[in-house]
Amino acid sequence: MRFDYDQLPGTVVFGRGAAQAELAAQFDALGLQNVMLVAGGSTLAEARRLTSEVDDRIGSVFTNVLPHVPTAVAEEARAQALATGADGLLSVGGGSTTGTAKIVALTSHLPIIAIPTTYAGSEMTPVWGLTTDARKETGIDRAVLPRTVIYDSTLTRTLPLDLAIASGFNALAHCVEAFWGPGENPVTSLHAGAGIRALAEGMRGVHGGAPTDDDYDQLLYGAYLAGSSFAVAGSGLHHKICHALGGAFNLPHAQTHAVMLPHVLAFNAGSIGADADAIAAALGAPKAAEGLWSLGRELDSPDNLEALGLKASQLDEAIAIVSAKLPIANPRPVTPDDIAAILTAAFSPAAGR
Ligand code: NAD
Repeated sequence: MRFDYDQLPGTVVFGRGAAQAELAAQFDALGLQNVMLVAGGSTLAEARRLTSEVDDRIGSVFTNVLPHVPTAVAEEARAQALATGADGLLSVGGGSTTGTAKIVALTSHLPIIAIPTTYAGSEMTPVWGLTTDARKETGIDRAVLPRTVIYDSTLTRTLPLDLAIASGFNALAHCVEAFWGPGENPVTSLHAGAGIRALAEGMRGVHGGAPTDDDYDQLLYGAYLAGSSFAVAGSGLHHKICHALGGAFNLPHAQTHAVMLPHVLAFNAGSIGADADAIAAALGAPKAAEGLWSLGRELDSPDNLEALGLKASQLDEAIAIVSAKLPIANPRPVTPDDIAAILTAAFSPAAGR
């Protein structure tokens, strides 16, 4: 056995109620006295409640959180952090909120405490994203990796069911792609397999109509394993497709992952050897791609790009945008014809498949 594992640093605190109970101690650990809170939309009120005991150390609140971090938002957030002399950042929200804090940290090197409220997993990665003129740029910089992440599943209970399932599929995509990403190793695969198990169990429980505390814990635990394995393994064909589509056509992030993942896994499954068996076993299915497809139907997950807003007249452009990213490192070589076949299959409603 021979592998490199570039393990990422950071503190993870996991527990129901931990977000409020642990916040002061985590501020102390990093010596934070003047924190810029980043929280927008549906998580702002919750963030204010969580920070009530450290209110004297919240110097300002940035609320203009928008998907995919537009450049104007990044500039506004950076200016606010500078003007208020912030010594740290606290993000409370989904991937868009974490991404806003990251873009401030990229230039300021301020430490981030992240409290995620979806399963996007950005809090575990050193990846930042910025969107300018409908093109999303991403990069890797350890300055944006949160120093502390507090996982508290009570904060995820308010996610609407369809968003919880789509976000769960976003996390599943991290796990599946961690099996073939460029930095893949036995440890990331171990975490990714455990992540798939936890996510599938949690999603089934949440979808079942009477979710338990444990279902929410499993989903969030799976999202943590997904983010941490993906952070080390790195992105491959699936994420390259989703980022290109999201940036160019403003498709919803988590739902795009949910639609694309079974197609990309079906394309790769025959080329990843025993990893396909590991994915299938984690899904509790005889075959990886079929198991993922069945899970999506069982959970009423979106199954076509058209339903997400991509128009038939945009399909050729989508194929061209993704094909322009070739060559993409992938266990099975990818040609422009393959991209066309994958996107065409993902475009149409899949009734009867
Ligand atoms: P999001 O953060 O945009 O949230 C989606 C919606 O859910 C928003 O309206 C938000 O207000 C709401 N919401 C969030 N938490 C909620 C809760 N607990 N209850 C009710 N509503 C809630 O979406 P997302 O899917 O979490 O993140 C997507 C973004 O994250 C994309 O820009 C994506 O590129 C980025 N991302 C980055 C990485 C990375 O490693 N850098 C990884 C994954 C995702």
